[in-house]
Amino acid sequence: MARYTGPVCRLCRREGMKLYLKGERCFTEKCAFDRRPFAPGDHGRSRGKTSQYAFQLRSKQVMKRIYGILERQFRRYFDRALRMTGDTRENLVRLVESRLDNVVFRMGFAINRRQARQLVTHGHFLVNGKRVNIPSYLLKPGDIVEVKESSRSIEVIKRSVELAKGRTIAPWIQVDFDAYRGTFERAPKLEELTDLPVDVQAIVELYSR
Ligand code: SF4
Repeated sequence: MARYTGPVCRLCRREGMKLYLKGERCFTEKCAFDRRPFAPGDHGRSRGKTSQYAFQLRSKQVMKRIYGILERQFRRYFDRALRMTGDTRENLVRLVESRLDNVVFRMGFAINRRQARQLVTHGHFLVNGKRVNIPSYLLKPGDIVEVKESSRSIEVIKRSVELAKGRTIAPWIQVDFDAYRGTFERAPKLEELTDLPVDVQAIVELYSR
């Protein structure tokens, strides 16, 4: 299971926007993007004009980085979205939003998707009562995700839940924080993803070149 292991704040600086990959730190003055809002490297401050191709490429990179997906797997999602009936953009977001690590994050059991991925890999979650330790596991509408009973005392999970209680939970998800359990009611529509700063159409155009 390949994953990006480099410095994550660098990704925000490269994309020229806050991707909120670190959880609490992203909202403090320690945020690297707030302190140095330009691309990393010697020429980071002197960016040229953006071509259409560059815009499409950056859109794809931003989406991959937000969900923590590497190129090969992201391309597989795109190919699958293309084969599905309906709007490819909607299909693509439906697929990535149905990933178990993403849903664990959206339910508030992890502070960010990276942490969610790690917690899933370490076997702290059950899906419909069965242990699942595959972050890319795709949930179906109605699936129930819960923190394993023996894992409910883990500090990072407890802390995430405390923070999540004061947050608005996505309308396509239901969570019972006291029971450490949530239901993935459905995959969201693209228009509902107000926290996704990406032009998904540009990604479709990039892969259709
Ligand atoms: Fe991005 Fe700032 Fe969070 Fe680092 S701290 S991941 S730069 S938003």
